[in-house]
Amino acid sequence: MQVVMKEEPKSGAVLGTKDIPKPKADEILVKVMATSICGTDLHIYNWDEWSQSRIKPPYVMGHEFSGEVVEIGEDVTLVKKGDMVSAETHIVCNECELCRTGQAHLCEETKILGVDIDGTYAEYVAIPAENAWVNPKGIDPAYLSVQEPLGNAVQTVLAGDIVGKSIAVVGCGPIGIFAVAVAKASGASKVIALEVNEYRMELAEKLGADIVINPLNEDPVNKVLDATDGKGVDVIAEMSGNPTAIKQSLKYVKLGGRVSLLGIPNGEVPLDIANDVVFKGITIQGIAGRKMYETWFQVKGLLESGSLNIEPVITHRLPMKDFKKGFELMQSGDCGKVVLYPHE
Ligand code: NAD
Ligand code: ZN
Repeated sequence: MQVVMKEEPKSGAVLGTKDIPKPKADEILVKVMATSICGTDLHIYNWDEWSQSRIKPPYVMGHEFSGEVVEIGEDVTLVKKGDMVSAETHIVCNECELCRTGQAHLCEETKILGVDIDGTYAEYVAIPAENAWVNPKGIDPAYLSVQEPLGNAVQTVLAGDIVGKSIAVVGCGPIGIFAVAVAKASGASKVIALEVNEYRMELAEKLGADIVINPLNEDPVNKVLDATDGKGVDVIAEMSGNPTAIKQSLKYVKLGGRVSLLGIPNGEVPLDIANDVVFKGITIQGIAGRKMYETWFQVKGLLESGSLNIEPVITHRLPMKDFKKGFELMQSGDCGKVVLYPHE
């Protein structure tokens, strides 16, 4: 089968071939119908510092996907042949304290599909059956594939009160754009999007942002305060990982507000803890992955409600063999989600 491999410890990736994997007793074999490019894949493609410390080439990249189950291991009961599945990409131990107390998304033994083991930029992938999320039939495989990053946005936005609250989504990459849509669909009173890339500013607007601010052209602190009667926003969904953006967000969050951090800064970020956190009485929380499987049920419910239209977020669809074009698009930022098709 055709695969996109990180063959060597250097930037880029290559098209290669591999044997179709054989599912183990507790695994399923999935024919990949769509696999989307994640920001993490771009880090691995670029071979940044984090990738160098984590990734062990040669291996198959990719983790966001959907596809049809074509074979099941002998112990599998949850999933059957013919099911259209997506997957929770964190493979956990189910035995540690975190797994056993409803916090499996924080499992210390977590292995990530397409990061620590062979991934989904492939015609077929074998995954543990317990990670499969069975979807209704007849839905665009691209939508099913992006449920995973959509889950990141859902966990962030719904990590506290949102109904009737104002929210600033800081950084409108694919996950930030999803967050704009999720906040709208979940009853936020006002959604303010902050983004530096023009293409993505437009996407944020398309997905329903009430105000879109480019912090490179206007002072984001004054703009957000102006838009909120000088009081600041109730909620920050931080999805840029940009240190300046993070520091500024603490200036325009309301007293007693919530700051949910999903974006990953490259290094340490110095903050004015006394003035911006303690005396403001705000709550800062880290958001990792998706809750297993609470977030997946929330994603399903939001999609079924009809109030969440994710169509505009999927901006490019390419045959998998053109993956380099996909990574160029991701690099430029002039895209939402880029979806690859391994069988085209
Ligand atoms: P992305 O890199 O595509 O999006 C980040 C966006 O922030 C870009 O569009 C960029 O233009 C924008 N940005 C940069 N500086 C800015 C600034 N000063 N103000 C406003 N916007 C700014 O990434 P993504 O795939 O959408 O993911 C969002 C973030 O979440 C990334 O940092 C990613 O690494 C992280 N992430 C975290 C988890 C987790 O489990 N915590 C999971 C997935 C992704
Ligand atoms: Zn565990």
